[in-house]
Amino acid sequence: THEQLRQAQKMEAVGQLTGGLAHDFNNLLAGISVSLEMIEARIRQDRTGEVSKYLLVAQGATKRAAALTHRLLAFSRRQTLAPKAINAGRLVSGMLDMVQRTVGPNIVVESYCTADLWTARVDPSQLENALLNLCLNARDAMPEGGRITVETGNRVFDAESARQQDIPEGEYLAIRVTDSGTGMSPEVLTKAFEPFFTTKPMGEGTGLGLSMIYGFTQQSGGQVRIRSQLGIGTTVSLYLPRYIGTAERDNGPLGLAPVLSA
Ligand code: ADP
Repeated sequence: THEQLRQAQKMEAVGQLTGGLAHDFNNLLAGISVSLEMIEARIRQDRTGEVSKYLLVAQGATKRAAALTHRLLAFSRRQTLAPKAINAGRLVSGMLDMVQRTVGPNIVVESYCTADLWTARVDPSQLENALLNLCLNARDAMPEGGRITVETGNRVFDAESARQQDIPEGEYLAIRVTDSGTGMSPEVLTKAFEPFFTTKPMGEGTGLGLSMIYGFTQQSGGQVRIRSQLGIGTTVSLYLPRYIGTAERDNGPLGLAPVLSA
């Protein structure tokens, strides 16, 4: 599972950086490619005096492209998990403004949190990332606008419900993101967690969002489930194992060991 963990971390890092870096990288490659064409043309016309100018451009772009890939690798290696006992209600409400601004005015973002919410022990920035990803997916499924509901609550799977849902028996912190969007066809639903599976246009989807979320919940000892109906909407549920910790005192704004709803 150490390997799985490393893999999931890498995937997250790659997912975050892919968009921007791919774009920069592409621009550099275009520069290299044009310069090489120029060199080829000048050599063919025996205008070798101009060749060195284009060679310099190509060399510069190659160096910057190499630096970019090194940054990508360094970043993906550096990511480590820092699990903390979290107050998920507070984490969610702390994100709502940012989410609302990101999804735009046509989408209503609302959140509900039960009182006496249990604690889970996960990496807060990974959980934030996961939730943001879910909200961005929800936005993409609602081009005409709609509603995103984030619900946080306690959930017990007893023998019966555990069998029904294929989730290990136990107590979980449940976080659900529901949208009123397009929904997924059964075909899309079966592939949704696969890395690089996307139905979005080139350059818009990486196909890493849900696979990253899958990796994150697995690492956290939890589960993720999707319920979706075409034309009605989608609910993605994260189940994170309840954490009852006393030995540990976590610091930071999200690191509250006993749960208190503000
Ligand atoms: P990406 O968003 O980059 O495509 P994901 O792994 O997050 O990658 O999602 C994979 C695919 O699952 C999406 O391309 C889309 O077809 C489908 N999907 C994910 N979330 C939703 C949603 N809330 N509503 C409808 N379809 C969704």
